[in-house]
This record gives sequence, C-alpha cells and structure tokens, in this order.
Amino acid sequence: QVKEQGRNGYRLFDAEHDKRRRSRKESLVRLRQALEQGELRLYYQPKVNMRNGKVVGAEALLRWHHPQHGVLAPGAFLADIEDSELDIPLGEWVIRTALAQMQEWRARGLLLGISVNISAFHLQQPDFARRMAVLLQEYPQLPRDMLEIEVLESTALSDLERVIALMRDCQALGVRFALDDFGTGYSSLLYLKRLPADKLKIDQSFIRNMHEDTDDLAIVQGIIGLSGAFNRHLVAEGVETDEHGKLLLYLGCEVAQGYGIARPMPADHFFDWVRRWQGNPHWEFAARQRWT
Ligand code: C2E
Ligand code: MG
Ligand code: MG
Ligand code: MG
Repeated sequence: QVKEQGRNGYRLFDAEHDKRRRSRKESLVRLRQALEQGELRLYYQPKVNMRNGKVVGAEALLRWHHPQHGVLAPGAFLADIEDSELDIPLGEWVIRTALAQMQEWRARGLLLGISVNISAFHLQQPDFARRMAVLLQEYPQLPRDMLEIEVLESTALSDLERVIALMRDCQALGVRFALDDFGTGYSSLLYLKRLPADKLKIDQSFIRNMHEDTDDLAIVQGIIGLSGAFNRHLVAEGVETDEHGKLLLYLGCEVAQGYGIARPMPADHFFDWVRRWQGNPHWEFAARQRWT
C-alpha cells in the first residue's frame, strides 16, 4: 500500500518535473526568437554622485518588449535563461549592445560608462576574457575603462581561483568589476577579500528600511566602512527618496541609483534625461539643495 502510494507519488512528481522542463524548453525557444527579432532591449538607469549631482554612469537592465504582454522585467523570464545555452549568447549581446550604446552616446557628446549584469555561469566560461577582448576590439575608439561588469555577489562562484584570474585578465583589458547586491550573499566578506572588484553595490533591501530598522542601518554603515577600508568604490541601490539620499551622504556614500533619481529608461530617453538633468547650469547647487 505504502509502496504503491510511493510509486504514484513518484510518477506524479516526475510528470510535474517533465512538464516544467518542457515549458522551460518552450520558453527558451521563444526567448531565442525574441533575441533574434530584436524584442530584447537594454534600458538604462543613471548613477548619480549626490554630492555634486554629476551623472557618473549607467546600468544596463534587460527588458523584453513582448508583443502580447508588454514590457517585461528580467524577473519574468531570466530564470529560464540562466545556465541554459542561451545564457552566453544573451550575455554577449548585452555586452555588445552596451559598447555600441557608449559609442553612440560618445558621438553625441556624452561620455559615460555603462555597467552590465553578467551571470556567474557566463563569467565562468574558460574563454570569457578572450571573448571580452574580441568584443572590445570591435569598438577601438572607446576608452578602455568604460565598461563595467556587475557580478551577483550572491551567486556561489564555484571556482574562486579561476574567477580571480579571469577578473585580472579582464582588468588588464580595462574592464572594471562591481559586486552586485553586496551583503546578501553567503560569503560577502570572503568575496570582498579575495575578488579584485573595483566597486560594491549596497543591496537595495538594506537601503529600503535603514531609517526604521537599526540592523539594516548598521549593515549599510558596515558596508560603507568596508568599502573605505578595502579601498573600493561604492554605489547605493534602490535610493527611492531624498531622505535615503541624505542619510547615505551623511554616512559617507556619495553615489546613488534608484527610482528617487530615475527609473530605467530606453536609451534615447536616457540621453534626453541626462541632458535635462545636467542642462541646469546650477545642478551642483540643485544637488546640494536636494541632498544636503
Ligand atoms: P540588479 O542588477 O540588482 O538591478 C537592480 C534592480 O533594481 C533592477 O531591477 C532595477 O530596475 C531595480 N531598481 C532600481 N532602482 C530601484 C528602486 O529605487 N526601487 C526598487 N524597488 N527597485 C529599483 P530589474 O531591472 O527588474 O532587474 C532585476 C535583476 O535582473 C537585476 O538586479 C539583475 O540581477 C538582473 N538583470 C537585469 N538585466 C540583466 C542582464 O542584462 N543580464 C543578466 N544576466 N541579468 C540581468
Ligand atoms: Mg546590477
Ligand atoms: Mg543589485
Ligand atoms: Mg538584484
């Protein structure tokens, strides 16, 4: 009786598993098509130095302009891609698109670095640095240090030594690295110590409640202290209000990214946004008014 149930249970589970695998496969086919048909886009969100108001960079964030469902954020489809055969072509498309975008902005008088999100799976490909060199060679006019790679700090990087070597190889090409969602991973401090990342991005979950939750505030303060001690740049994510910004500035974190400044935008909107933001001749003063 028990055995019978067990077998049924197993079969039931197996059917579910098979269904999930099939639907993931179908969605991958659809996503590959989306990539080929230009339905995937990069949106850009500014990073701003709150001390002087200067736009210091942009993060490229993936969006799917789905013909039926509208604009989809990565939460709706990225899980199907991760670790799949589409992960690497998509990552390379993201890098190439960001490079082309920097080139286009530069031609229009806007010299601004872009950071891209790259999966741990992609990063751990043995030829990542070599491919990076090839992609960079397609844009010889771009200053070498304009591309930054954001690595999810929470992703268990299985082969730390190899990732360290790879980061050094990429840094020799001029590419910079940021540890994304810093503070949420299993071994943040080990990664901080070992990985030659240039920048830490304080995860938005700590910023959100730092005014009410003293633990979150302590974590934010701790990360700001660590960035100073380890001599890494710092960005706060998820800065939604001027109060967030003010407190961060007071604590010693100058660069912010979040809805309180701007949401991720299509490339053309982003360009116009920067023009408007910095078109104000008193923008340093405006930043001081706003955040200090
Ligand atoms: P992330 O790299 O940590 O990016 C920050 C996320 O927070 C983005 O969500 C952004 O839209 C959102 N965000 C920015 N400011 C605020 C704010 O003030 N409040 C709130 N609540 N959210 C804010 P998004 O665009 O949905 O992306 C989610 C994640 O998907 C990213 O997190 C990143 O890990 C991943 N991702 C995005 N684009 C790519 C990509 O091209 N490739 C890969 N592999 N992953 C990507
Ligand atoms: Mg990121
Ligand atoms: Mg993040
Ligand atoms: Mg995140």
